[in-house]
Amino acid sequence: MNLFDVYTLWNIEPVRAKGCRLWDKNGTEYLDFYGGHAVISIGHTHPEYTRMLKEQIDKIGFYSNSVINSLQQEVADKLGKLCGYPDYALFLCNSGAEANENALKLASFHTGKKRIVAFKEAFHGRTSGAVAITDNPTIQSPFNTGHEVAFVPLNDIDAVVKEVDKGDVAAIVIEGIQGVAGIFAPDTDFLQQLELVCQKHDVVLILDEVQSGYGRTGKFFAHQFADIKADIITTAKGMGNGFPIGGVIISPKFKPRKGMLGTTFGGNHLACAAAIAVLNVIKTESLINNAEEMGNYLQKELSTCRGIEEIRGRGLMIGVQLSPDQSELRNKLLFESHIFTGGAKNNVMRLLPPLSISKDEIDIFIREFKKHTEQ
Ligand code: PLP
Repeated sequence: MNLFDVYTLWNIEPVRAKGCRLWDKNGTEYLDFYGGHAVISIGHTHPEYTRMLKEQIDKIGFYSNSVINSLQQEVADKLGKLCGYPDYALFLCNSGAEANENALKLASFHTGKKRIVAFKEAFHGRTSGAVAITDNPTIQSPFNTGHEVAFVPLNDIDAVVKEVDKGDVAAIVIEGIQGVAGIFAPDTDFLQQLELVCQKHDVVLILDEVQSGYGRTGKFFAHQFADIKADIITTAKGMGNGFPIGGVIISPKFKPRKGMLGTTFGGNHLACAAAIAVLNVIKTESLINNAEEMGNYLQKELSTCRGIEEIRGRGLMIGVQLSPDQSELRNKLLFESHIFTGGAKNNVMRLLPPLSISKDEIDIFIREFKKHTEQ
């Protein structure tokens, strides 16, 4: 059987990883400024993480959501405290798309409405509802087109109000920082106005923090820089440091009923062990502070580099708008300097390293960046 051929692959096979480094099958070492797409939060194969997963798999890896699994409550307790939403409830699932799908469903159950306001250039995943609120028709099948979604420009509060005034909107969905689009943060005053509009019109505010969450920006969630509260927050990527897990963080105003949401694998013992290890390490190693400090340092150093038109983002979620003559830079960094970076359309380099990245590793990245751009 062949693999269904949907991914464009680099001809590299990592077989080992530690901290912010990877090694391929030939023994070549790589520096990780991509974090496997913002997923590696506490660093590859962190000893606390591997220990907890190994111990858990020897005890029990999975049963079902029809029995008690107190590890789920431990995730909820630790996450609630660390993320600043201790009075909210947690629904555990397996991915970012699934988290968003459940958030949309909850908003619709709660309001009895079905129209959603999303933003131009947004990415929310590939399941039916998530892809319907993603502004990319090329990944929507005809099956996905039945949903009622209005896409409005980011930071345009008048456009939002115009839609909400129609009275049929269940939820507004926004990324903490738009990731796939190329790292675009909503303005602080826009987020504050959005919160007010939602409160006034009883519209559910869903913050998709799948990429921008889990400490990456220097706060647990990016929207917390605007000092607002969301009704529902979705998370995944950094939550399990590579172990598939997603979460929906839900305001107390949503009342659960049996069978309202569900999943076979969500919240299984291994996923919870991974999530608990991640939360423990984020706390004990002050990784949110490190993300802020290293992010500031990286942005400062980048500002001394040539070949850049704009630097965007916060903490360790950075978008580098490269000048048109630097379209080969990511390939040079990867194949000549052995540094992974992320991409986005229009010549944007996305930097999403593990939150444990060090100054020395940033210095190597900047040295190699300059080597290629100052030739
Ligand atoms: N939401 C955002 C903001 C994302 O960046 C992504 C993935 O890149 C998703 C949702 C979808 O997550 P997943 O691929 O885990 O379904």
